[in-house]
Amino acid sequence: MSKEVRVRFAPSPTGFLHLGNIRAALINYLFAHQKNGKFILRIEDTDKSRNLDEAAFEILQDLKWLGLKYDEGPILGGKYGPYYQSQRTEIYQKHLNDLILNQKIYRCFCSMERLDQMRQEQMAQGKPPRYDRKCLNLSNDNIKQKLVDKEPFIWRFKLDPEQFYEIEDMARGKIKFEMRNFSDFALTRQDGSFTFLFTNFVDDWLMNITHVIRGEDHLSNTALQAAMFDDLAVTLPKFWHLPMICNKEGKKLSKRDFGFSLKDLKKEGFLPESICNYLGIIGVSFEQEIASLEDLSKKFDFENISSTGPIRFDIEKLTWINHKWIQKGSLEKLANEVKPFLYEKISQSKNLDDEKLKFFLSKLRSDMKTLKDVSSVLNFYFEDPKVEKNKIENQIGKQNSEIILDLIYKHLNYADKTELFLNTIKFEGKEKGLKIKEIFGTIRYLLTGKFEGPSIHDIFQILEDEKIKKRLARVF
Ligand code: GLU
Repeated sequence: MSKEVRVRFAPSPTGFLHLGNIRAALINYLFAHQKNGKFILRIEDTDKSRNLDEAAFEILQDLKWLGLKYDEGPILGGKYGPYYQSQRTEIYQKHLNDLILNQKIYRCFCSMERLDQMRQEQMAQGKPPRYDRKCLNLSNDNIKQKLVDKEPFIWRFKLDPEQFYEIEDMARGKIKFEMRNFSDFALTRQDGSFTFLFTNFVDDWLMNITHVIRGEDHLSNTALQAAMFDDLAVTLPKFWHLPMICNKEGKKLSKRDFGFSLKDLKKEGFLPESICNYLGIIGVSFEQEIASLEDLSKKFDFENISSTGPIRFDIEKLTWINHKWIQKGSLEKLANEVKPFLYEKISQSKNLDDEKLKFFLSKLRSDMKTLKDVSSVLNFYFEDPKVEKNKIENQIGKQNSEIILDLIYKHLNYADKTELFLNTIKFEGKEKGLKIKEIFGTIRYLLTGKFEGPSIHDIFQILEDEKIKKRLARVF
């Protein structure tokens, strides 16, 4: 029987989720679902200098919002917990002690200043920065004295420069890392806390992670972690190093780029479905472009992933997908989703009842690309549009505008009988040489402030009779 697939999303709570980590979370989630495995959330909160609780809480909220439910993790628990690294200190200490006993690691007393200076000198000489192993062969007496003097130290892993390790990457196949290209790395910091390299390795090992799917910026960490897996004779997980997401200029997407953080996208009215859909289809070939989490997890072709270059973040594509998702969901759901956007821009809209809002959305959602668009597409219901005669003249000519306005005033009495009103104006207007587009465009303009937009019939259904009459009766 093959081993149960166990994958994990392991964010460091550094403030907010960005597209890169959401993509990693998503791909892990899809992989676990497709393989009937487990998707684990582990919060890597060992950096004491940050306010981690709040940021970790936000990650849980964001994953929930995105619909990426985990099978084991914070709050929910699981048999490999705890799932906050800050609660696993004893576990790391125990494994560090084992490495000390086996003499796989050594104390390094070098000061930060020395290390910095060495790094700068190496770089100035065009050499890659490497630790020079000054502390590798300190005598026992020397070490004892330094400990008595309370000199701060860190533990370093002793790499064998002759060794190489091979990992299996789902997109690139076998990757070989030669240890002569790396230097003895730190497992602890001077304050006694553990480094990412170490805790992340211990947890992947103890949590029985079978596949590590993370950004390709972690490739060199993988090399060093492979050394630890090998050293402890633990089977290496498989890896997939996901390509980076870049901006239009091809640079790694950063805080300065719109769309980098989930907060930006939420605030602009992107739906969770669209964000997952977009991140699920970029960088891989996918025939069906509009796909739910379920579709993605069924159809994602994990057996044939080719290694791609960086992926460009394409806001237009995401917006197109969002537009499609706005048309897809139930009106009930959409109504709830648009409310905060609507209420923020149009305070009277708070009095609108749900049935009316749903009805309006049924007519108008095809004009919305983001939830934020709700205020511009619905504004005409709440506010009389500002209209000007010369705008009509510019659009259809002075003479035509006289004709159409006269016709509208003449038949205003029927304005509450939509069909009769529109048919009469259409008939008489055509007789006078006007085009349908000119007639309806002008009526639409008087009612909504725009020549293009929802169908005239929809507008007549949305606006109450008094509003229609008042707006059409506008005398210039
Ligand atoms: N805490 C690491 C990060 O947020 C985890 C990387 C990994 O998935 O191993 O980058």
